[in-house]
Amino acid sequence: MKTTRVVIIGGGPGGTACASTLQRLAGELDHAVHVTLLEGKQFSGEQHYNQCVGVLSPPLPALLEERLCVPFPYHLARNQIKGYVLHTLREEIALETDEGSASLSSRRVHFDAYMLEQVRARGVSVLPPHRLPYRAIRAERLQADFDCRAGIQTQGLDPPPRVVEAGCLQRAWSALAARVKTLKEAFGQLISSTVAEVASLWASLRRSSDSVPKMLCFLSEHHRISLLGNYLCLQAPP
Ligand SMILES: Cc1cc2nc3c(=O)[nH]c(=O)nc-3n(C[C@H](O)[C@H](O)[C@H](O)COP(=O)(O)OP(=O)(O)OC[C@H]3O[C@@H](n4cnc5c(N)ncnc54)[C@H](O)[C@@H]3O)c2cc1C
Repeated sequence: MKTTRVVIIGGGPGGTACASTLQRLAGELDHAVHVTLLEGKQFSGEQHYNQCVGVLSPPLPALLEERLCVPFPYHLARNQIKGYVLHTLREEIALETDEGSASLSSRRVHFDAYMLEQVRARGVSVLPPHRLPYRAIRAERLQADFDCRAGIQTQGLDPPPRVVEAGCLQRAWSALAARVKTLKEAFGQLISSTVAEVASLWASLRRSSDSVPKMLCFLSEHHRISLLGNYLCLQAPP
């Protein structure tokens, strides 16, 4: 049976709900699906968190249990909120809730960690940041760094890269150096035929295509590859 692979970026409530719904619907349709969820934050141990007051209001318990088949985490509730009071300059307005529809307060980071555990238990691969196979670098930073390496400009990056970004840029330059022949063929007459090594390739690319986004658009449109690897690229917008 053909397996569909899905990658979801972000393991907040939206990402985990999407992952768990996909798994459930695929199961109902007898369709094999492998869902990978990438979450950049480490919720367990409260190393990172998403900003939130942590109020869990109805109909969330019913939605979790009926739509996602996830037990509502009553054990994470710290307090019940039976109503709110609006304080204005002249008066106080009490907003009371119906019997049985109180909200619960929780620590959001515990809720996010719980939801990730639930999807993991349903067979979703949850990749933490240190397991991500790549790190994103900004196109303009990459371009400025490559300009320096190719001798197009002498001023270094501002602000200077920290150790992780510096490592990424070094690897990116090495990847470019290993692709001189491939990129020469892909860009064809757009770059000089005398290009033989990475610095002259980059200088020639900058003259012909100007910016990294333009290079990526050209490669995606005409060859469906990327600058630093033969990844299949998303179609560039028209
Ligand atoms: C100050 C504040 C208070 C709030 N209080 C409440 C409240 O009390 N009750 C309530 O119900 N709602 C509250 N909300 C709203 C609630 O936080 C949002 O509705 C909810 O978080 C939206 O969920 P989401 O999954 O769409 O996005 P998010 O919760 O923002 O999740 C997105 C996730 O994606 C991850 N991510 C993003 N980019 C990448 C990437 N490139 N790679 C890997 N991971 C990535 C992030 O780390 C994050 O974990 C509050 C919001 C704020 C800002």
